Amino acid sequence: MSHTKKIVSVDEVLDQAKTYITDQKQLEVIKQAYLFAKEKHAGQFRKTGEDYIIHPLNVAMILTTIYADYQTIAAGFLHDVLEDCDCTYEEMEEKFGPEITKLVYGVTKLSRIHFSTDNEYLIDYYKKIIVGMSEDVRVIIIKLADRLHNMRTLWAVPPDRQKVKAREALEILAPIAHHLGIHKIKSELEDLALRYLKPDVFYDIAEKLNKTKLERDRTVADMEKEVSDLLTEHHINHEIKGRAKCIYSIYNKLNKGKKFSDIYDLLALRILVHTEQECYLALGIIHSKFRPLPKRFKDYIAMPKPNMYQSLHTTVFGIDGYLFEIQIRTYDMDEIAENGIASHWAYKENKGSNKIANLQSTTEQKLQFFKSIIDLSKDKMSNEEFVNSVKEEVLNNNIYCFTPKGDVIELPVGATPVDFAYKIHTKVGDTTTGAIVNNSIVPLNYELKNNDIVRIITNKSATPSFEWINFVKATTTKNKIKNFFSKNEKDVYIERGKDSLEKELRKKKLSISEFLSDENLKDIYEEFKLDTLDDLYLSIGNGKISPLSVINFIVKDQEVAAPKVVKVTSKNMDADIIVNGIDKVKVNLANCCCPVYGDDIIGYITKGNGITVHRTNCHNLEMLESRTLEVHWNTNVNKRYLTNILIYSNSQDNHMLDLMQTISNMNVSVDGINMMSKVGSILYSASIYVTGLDQLTKLFSNLEKQPYIDHVERLMR
Ligand code: MN
Repeated sequence: MSHTKKIVSVDEVLDQAKTYITDQKQLEVIKQAYLFAKEKHAGQFRKTGEDYIIHPLNVAMILTTIYADYQTIAAGFLHDVLEDCDCTYEEMEEKFGPEITKLVYGVTKLSRIHFSTDNEYLIDYYKKIIVGMSEDVRVIIIKLADRLHNMRTLWAVPPDRQKVKAREALEILAPIAHHLGIHKIKSELEDLALRYLKPDVFYDIAEKLNKTKLERDRTVADMEKEVSDLLTEHHINHEIKGRAKCIYSIYNKLNKGKKFSDIYDLLALRILVHTEQECYLALGIIHSKFRPLPKRFKDYIAMPKPNMYQSLHTTVFGIDGYLFEIQIRTYDMDEIAENGIASHWAYKENKGSNKIANLQSTTEQKLQFFKSIIDLSKDKMSNEEFVNSVKEEVLNNNIYCFTPKGDVIELPVGATPVDFAYKIHTKVGDTTTGAIVNNSIVPLNYELKNNDIVRIITNKSATPSFEWINFVKATTTKNKIKNFFSKNEKDVYIERGKDSLEKELRKKKLSISEFLSDENLKDIYEEFKLDTLDDLYLSIGNGKISPLSVINFIVKDQEVAAPKVVKVTSKNMDADIIVNGIDKVKVNLANCCCPVYGDDIIGYITKGNGITVHRTNCHNLEMLESRTLEVHWNTNVNKRYLTNILIYSNSQDNHMLDLMQTISNMNVSVDGINMMSKVGSILYSASIYVTGLDQLTKLFSNLEKQPYIDHVERLMR
């Protein structure tokens, strides 16, 4: 490849700008910026040997090809003046006003980076990019144009610097261009970078493309004609473009293990029509004549990519047995596909400052990438975490999943439903209890795939598990979970306890204020050995006391024989556990914590064996919590539950008989009692059947009234 020096002149830039800027004053500002830069850079030369002004001229030219506004083009001319010339901020501001000067200053800040260790450099770089973007996205666009021209003339730089610059372009700037949707700049940056990073690969692909070029060109032309005739026949106004594939994207596919001959989208057509309706119409017509390749159809019109890209994609068996990748889109969509966020310059006919506000607010509202990156800059995190997060958001390949409503959520590869939940909203993440992906329940550490439809199950009294940190993918998710735990944990539990008590009271149609009367509270404090209402909530919130046991303690006397046995028609209603929203699922009660009716419980999804129900305070859950979902007791079922208790006596005498008597007096059946000797006293372990937590709580208090018993607790294995 030759390095032809096509000298760009200011008239060319102005001519190009005139195609979309009509205001004479604005064109004059552009011209003045050129003259000012020319004067300031006088006597300076590029490494290519050219006058320095050639560089700003080219940068401005690139900016006009993406329809930049006049301030951006002017700043493009001036972008190196503050940095390299004898010119102060004040001088520039006086001449060009605050807006243009701010843009130039933004670009200058980006360039002033001290090279040190790799990571420190990146931290600096990323932080500046983020600040630049959040202040004015045009700063980044100028930076992209600047780098693009520098990459075009990279041959003039010493080889070791070439690699550094090329890597930076590929790893940082091209991904940013991609996220901003500026495909034009992105693909050229990638190709140029590859040329310097892996010249052998680059020229190999280029040569192969060249060898087959004649044949491919002919085939494409033939196909173009056939498709065009077909559309004309159906009265669809259209334009067809053959399109060049970027060498870098071919390299990427080869890298993924595809053979050169297999990269079938080498032959490609783009069809431009006027309306969205015509896109689908054209698709139907083409499919009726050319057989589509299964599973290659993508509707990015109905579901745009997060960088706003819209188009229909299909691959068909075209003429001569060649496969053709066909894109169908409107002119507007094409504009966005090429220029991304920059296309808003071309479309908004508003005046001056409105237009800028528009570009910036469009960026902020429409690009998830931007939102994530702004979120990152707000998060308190270490520099290393920061770099990792930005890399993840900016550099990594992403997957796209959908909410049940069809909103696209962009996630890093390997993301889990928890990442998805936090991406929707921190509140959603914090209260996640389960996830359904494409209609199946999945564990929370499930690895999401592209195009998964994800429904997050939440419970407003649920809280995140610290264990999630071990499997979530996004650094932002990790930080949000950590944030939750650094908030006062106690407050969270109090809140949660209050919620679940009130929920239970409402369920039983009891008045909350009556229930929490001073008199009742006094009794509750005495019974449960508490001092304050917050203590009560805390004990409920952290699972020490169940809300039912508190309620039953107060209401027991007033409660008339409850109509427990209710005839129910649904066949699932005879199960003792209700799993939210799911029918016919096998449910087992865990035998480590042996939950009984009334216990706070949670379901754990097992591999291939349905759902196992644990008590929420079961210590085994610490390991399992990632795969939990919300379950409830069916209040309509009357049955007895096996559970295990430990009875700590305070004597060495054998009280077995007495114990059996006390237990069976309460209509609790005993499955077995064992005696274990402890130093100074005997410990009994008993397996018993109880109707529920009320009965169990009552049993405990009766047992603890016995003089030979110290205390009783439930056994958890
Ligand atoms: Mn520059």
